[in-house]
Amino acid sequence: MTPCTLLHDYECGDVTDEQLEDVWTGDTMREFKQTTVSEVIPEDCRTCDALEYCGGGCRWWSWNVDDTLAGRDPRFCQNMQYFVDEILPMVEERTETKPTPL
Ligand code: SF4
Repeated sequence: MTPCTLLHDYECGDVTDEQLEDVWTGDTMREFKQTTVSEVIPEDCRTCDALEYCGGGCRWWSWNVDDTLAGRDPRFCQNMQYFVDEILPMVEERTETKPTPL
């Protein structure tokens, strides 16, 4: 069992050998669930204008690229910087409002 279908090598337990409740409350899953966004925001992202929209991107990409949940998502980063630099100003100009981050 993994916390995300993409994090297939982030094993939290095996429900064929253990009770689901034991996996859900086990150390690995508990550690994952207790990890907050602010704990895994990469240093590079902390001062980024896109952070409120991006949140540092997808944790899987960070895990996939750097073997850590606390890295930057290189794919999402490009998209979000384009969004903040190019799309957001157009939306703000046309609607005279700043889109609310999710
Ligand atoms: S756009 Fe890039 S640098 Fe900015 S918060 Fe997202 S991942 Fe981090």
